[in-house]
Amino acid sequence: KGRQLNDGLEAALSDDGMQSGRIMVYVRLRPLSKMEKEAGSRSCIRIVNKRDVYLTEFALETDYLRLKRLRGRHFAFDAAFPENTGQQEVYDTSTAELIEGVMQGRNCSVFCYGATGAGKTYTMLGTMQSPGVMVLALKDLFFKLKQQSRGDDYVVKLSYLEVYNESVRDLLSPGRPLVLREDSKQGIVAAGLTQYQAYSADEVMILLQRGNQNRQTEPTRVNETSSRSHAILQVVAEYKVQQEASYVSRVGKLSLIDLAGSERALATDQRTLRSLEGANINRSLLALSSCINALVEGKKHIPFRNSKLTQLLKDSLGGACQTAMIANISPSNICFGETQNTLHWADRAKEIRTKVSSNEDLQIPESQEDQTKLLLQMQKENQQ
Ligand code: ADP
Ligand code: MG
Repeated sequence: KGRQLNDGLEAALSDDGMQSGRIMVYVRLRPLSKMEKEAGSRSCIRIVNKRDVYLTEFALETDYLRLKRLRGRHFAFDAAFPENTGQQEVYDTSTAELIEGVMQGRNCSVFCYGATGAGKTYTMLGTMQSPGVMVLALKDLFFKLKQQSRGDDYVVKLSYLEVYNESVRDLLSPGRPLVLREDSKQGIVAAGLTQYQAYSADEVMILLQRGNQNRQTEPTRVNETSSRSHAILQVVAEYKVQQEASYVSRVGKLSLIDLAGSERALATDQRTLRSLEGANINRSLLALSSCINALVEGKKHIPFRNSKLTQLLKDSLGGACQTAMIANISPSNICFGETQNTLHWADRAKEIRTKVSSNEDLQIPESQEDQTKLLLQMQKENQQ
């Protein structure tokens, strides 16, 4: 059976990943931060051939002066970006191809996954000087629309929203939580969500930075600026392209997702109100994990309805769309546990390539204790 599985995997891998509907999985390593250097941490990650990732576990020697190498593990991804990789290269490798998909009228999505501080927001949004995937994607999209669509006859609409504590908020126009409803044409929509019509990529950076300031951040013991919110930028492009003698209308959709920190709630302060919020964030990430697991296993029922995040992403996962996942990691041995988790998760996501045939509910346990059990079980399975 293992053999068959391997053959299947190889066949799927030798296909063009995009064509077969497989999720493309990338890993981005950020540089050691000043704080990590000052804490005397060393790198536990080595990237070779822009593809292979070696993770090393260290232990303190008994004299407490040196770190001893314990064991290593090897992972391979569609691409792995070493710490000196620039934003443009990350964009070109991971996302440029998806813009082609949007120009074919498809749904495409890019996720950033990883612990708080691993570089998700830097990768997605970036800075004024080094804009990230969101801005570079829009730049590219406008360029292609100008090139390929009829005249200036296109519309690009942006929505920027967050899922925080299982409620959905408009980051472009903060206010009351939005209600999700099923639309026969558009799928799941957030009622009343701002759709901002953009005319160039230049205006987008400021818009998104302002939106990001509206994201909910909560101090936790693990990290003062830890973000428990998932941010989703939805870009809808409507345009006309020439086909033989006439023009046809197309709609392409791009979702760019900056997920909440994937660190386990177990690592943060569990007490009081925050534990509830932690549980809810876990619920969305857990639901995402269980959708991924269900997709990997080729299950008929994918539990999209189990969280707000997965409801919103229903048409952005699985075989019917083009998806890229960027797993962000820190090189520091202090972050070993989180990095290991992130790499296992990314390794698992690589196997998604089945077509989604129908969407129905699977049950996710309500209580946090049961959720934690399920999470631990899934982590154990991933490690086998
Ligand atoms: P996250 O969103 O995953 O919590 P951030 O993107 O905010 O993490 O990154 C944490 C810090 O590390 C920020 O100060 C950010 O500027 C810096 N950083 C992250 N990735 C890189 C990178 N590839 N190059 C340089 N600095 C980075
Ligand atoms: Mg962030």
